Amino acid sequence: MNTSIQYAQLQDQNDELASFRYRFHIPKISDGKDSIYLCGNSLGLMPKSASEYINQELEDWKNLGVEGHFHAKNPWMPYHEYLSKNMAQIVGAFPSEVVVMNSLTVNLHLLMVSFYRPTKNRYKILFDYSPFPSDRYAISSQVNFHGFDPAEAMIELKPDNGEEIITIENIHKILEMHGDEIALILIGGVNYYTGQAYDIKTITDMGHAQGCVVGFDLAHAAGNLLLNLHDDGPDFATWCSYKYLNAGPGSLSGCFVHERHHSADLPRFAGWWGHDKATRFLMGDEFHPIPTAEGWQLSNPPILSMAAIRASLDLFAEAGMNRLRRKSEQLTAYLEYLISQANDVNIKIITPSETQQRGCQISIQMKNPNKNLFQYLTENGVIADWREPDVIRVAPVPLYNTFEDVWQFNRILHEGLSKL
Ligand SMILES: *Cc1c(COP(=O)(O)O)cnc(C)c1O
Repeated sequence: MNTSIQYAQLQDQNDELASFRYRFHIPKISDGKDSIYLCGNSLGLMPKSASEYINQELEDWKNLGVEGHFHAKNPWMPYHEYLSKNMAQIVGAFPSEVVVMNSLTVNLHLLMVSFYRPTKNRYKILFDYSPFPSDRYAISSQVNFHGFDPAEAMIELKPDNGEEIITIENIHKILEMHGDEIALILIGGVNYYTGQAYDIKTITDMGHAQGCVVGFDLAHAAGNLLLNLHDDGPDFATWCSYKYLNAGPGSLSGCFVHERHHSADLPRFAGWWGHDKATRFLMGDEFHPIPTAEGWQLSNPPILSMAAIRASLDLFAEAGMNRLRRKSEQLTAYLEYLISQANDVNIKIITPSETQQRGCQISIQMKNPNKNLFQYLTENGVIADWREPDVIRVAPVPLYNTFEDVWQFNRILHEGLSKL
C-alpha cells in the first residue's frame, strides 16, 4: 500500500466488483459531482433496479386489485418466500430459519417473548456495551414486563479500564460470575458505535455452556460480515434491511430462528400469517404455527417494501458475500492505513485493527470533540455520520464504494484536521 492517488485508482481498476457501483444511485453534491458516501452503515444507497421492482407491484395492484395476491407477476400471497433463500445466504442459515417481517425493534420484542423466559433465579440479560438505544429500551421494558427490576437484571458489557473494546475474556469473566443468573445474552454482531465485531460462535458456545439463551442483533452485521448462523448455533437473531442491505428507509427486518426451535412449544405472540398455510384461509379458531421461522409472522407483509428488498438481495446474490467481504477487508484496511499514516494526535481509531474483529466501519474518536471537523467533511462532499459524544463513523461499503472514495475522504479529513 502507498498513499498516492494512483495506488487507489489502480485498486479500482483491478476490482472485479467495480461495476456494481453503477447499479446504485450515488447522491450528488451541489456541483453535480458524486458525494463521498460513507454512510451505508446508516442508510444503504438505492439500487437503480428498486424502481423497476416496486413499479411491477404498483402496476399489478393497478391492474389486478385483490387478484394480485394470486395473479400478480410475482403473486403477493407467498411474496415473503421469494426473499428467504437470498436472505438466508447472507446470514449463513437455511431458508427455513429465516423470515423477513416487521421492523427490527418489533422483532427484538417478538423474539424476546419467545426466548427471554426468566425464572426466579435466572432472569438477567447480558447485553452489549453502549448499545443502540432502541435495544436498551426493548430489553429494559421486557425485564419490566416480567416484573423484574432493570437496574438489577440488566448486565451491560464493559471494556476493561479505559478501553473501548470488549474482549472474549471479559465476557467469559462475567459468565463465570453470573452465568447461572443470566436467562438471555443479547448482543450485537457489530457494535454500532465502536465498529467491533463479536465472535458469534465463541459467545454462543460460552453462553450455552452456562445454560443461557443466546441471541444477536445483527443490524450492523448483516450484509457486512460473513455470517454462519446455522453452524454457529445462536438461538435467534434479527437485523434491519436498510443499512448494509440497501432496502430503503424503514424497510423490513430479517429474523433468524434456529431450526432446533421450530417445533418447540415456545410462548409467542401469534398472528394469522404465522398460521399453517394450508389451513390459514379456513379462518379457524385455533392457531397452528408454521414449523419454520415463518411461524413467528403476524401480518400479511407490505409488498412494496419487500419489492425493494428483493431488488437489493438480487444484487447481493450476484456479487456474493465471499467476494464482497474480501473487497471490504481490503477497503477498510486501506482506510485505516491512510488515516494512520498522518499520525494525528487529535484523532484515534477505536475500531479493532484485526480483520476478524470488525466489518467495514471505522470509528474515529476525536480527542477534543467539537463538530467543526465533521462540518468540514460535510461541506466538502463527505457523507458520514457523527455519533455523540465524540465519534465520526465511516463505512466504505464494497458494493458501491471505491478505493478512490477512501483516498478522497482521507485527504479531506486531514485538510480539516490541519485547519482545526
Ligand atoms: C439501526 C439499529 C436499530 C434501529 O431499529 P429500528 O427498529 O429498525 O428502527 C436498532 N438496533 C440497532 C443495533 C441498530 O443498529
